[in-house]
Amino acid sequence: MLHQKVDQDLSDRKNWALRRQLGIPNNKRLWVLACMDERLPVEKALGIGEGDAHIFRNAGGVVTDDAIRSAMLTTHLFGTKEIIVINHTECGMMTASGEFISHFLEKKGINLDQTSIDPALPELKLSKGVFSKWIKTFVDVDETCVKQVELLRHSPLIPEDVVIHGYIWEVETMRLRSPHSRLIEKVNTAQAMSAKGL
Ligand SMILES: [Zn+2]
Repeated sequence: MLHQKVDQDLSDRKNWALRRQLGIPNNKRLWVLACMDERLPVEKALGIGEGDAHIFRNAGGVVTDDAIRSAMLTTHLFGTKEIIVINHTECGMMTASGEFISHFLEKKGINLDQTSIDPALPELKLSKGVFSKWIKTFVDVDETCVKQVELLRHSPLIPEDVVIHGYIWEVETMRLRSPHSRLIEKVNTAQAMSAKGL
């Protein structure tokens, strides 16, 4: 009978909308930390679809205070049991140092020692000279990926039984790989960039 299909659709839609209220986790019970880069298609890389994961993206795909905040909420309150970190080759966060970005902004007249890093929390200011560290640029994507996994594993705000792994997305081959197992040799590093005179 057609009404059965219609009723099922209505039920599915209600469960979808009220997932958090009903305590239903995402399909894969998965939280993903990934770079915001448009060349990194997170769902395609992991072979997941709509509703499968909570996906957190920022510049670099690195562990920041807001990443920890989100990971803490999804693991403690929303039923997430697994974390995957995805960094990628040719990342923009490898093209300049923290010091370079700090000087760049200061030349534009921004006082980094007085600026709140959260407009809604004016008291949240960085110590003098810390901005260049806070920006979290990096030189080696493999080491960075391993480090992000370690940071999450050692965070007291993430439950110890959460399974955490990290992978590198190679924009050249459009494939995932484990850290330190390059599919091709040519990757973007600070050393390579300076060799090019950039
Ligand atoms: Zn990136």
